[in-house]
Amino acid sequence: MPTKTLRLLRLLWLSVRRILQYAWRFSWWTTAGLRDARIRPKGLRLLGLGLAIGFLVGWANSEVIHVFTDRGSMPKPVTPPPPGMAWARVLTTGYCPCTSCCGPNAIGRTAINKDVRVHPYGIAADKGLMPYRTTLYVPGYGIAEVDDTGGAMRQNARRGRFHLDLRFTDHAQARRWGVRWMWIAVPAGVGAASLPESR
Ligand SMILES: [Zn+2]
Repeated sequence: MPTKTLRLLRLLWLSVRRILQYAWRFSWWTTAGLRDARIRPKGLRLLGLGLAIGFLVGWANSEVIHVFTDRGSMPKPVTPPPPGMAWARVLTTGYCPCTSCCGPNAIGRTAINKDVRVHPYGIAADKGLMPYRTTLYVPGYGIAEVDDTGGAMRQNARRGRFHLDLRFTDHAQARRWGVRWMWIAVPAGVGAASLPESR
């Protein structure tokens, strides 16, 4: 099976597992009602409710919802961008070189074959929106080069969303970055500059 399919299957499994975990967490206490015949019908209804709440919370907690809830959280910068640049609205997330972030076949090399031990910091993007080797300043992260890509970035690009994944050296640090929408200055000619979201 190609790596892409494997990654997709793994992502699907992780999502299902997370949703089930929440469904379980919110429903186990309601099963107590099932042990008593007198309140069993109520118990079943509660179980259903617990599962429903569990699914909702599980879904709400998945990364997907952040994309919707964080929209519009930052207004466009008030000044013009630096010469030759344009303001672009961007969704930022964090990753590290571990197998949890980069899939079971992670080999510690970026999409343009950089060794992550030599280049611990860098940015993953959709190359149609942001060409490799572009240097960007991301507030709160720093100044880094686009040297990697990923399925999530390509998928967001297809939906007209500019997504950057910022590389950290350890997993906890990457998780702590979370999901943040912001505005950054990008070279005026790149795809990300002309997205409807950046207007
Ligand atoms: Zn990681």
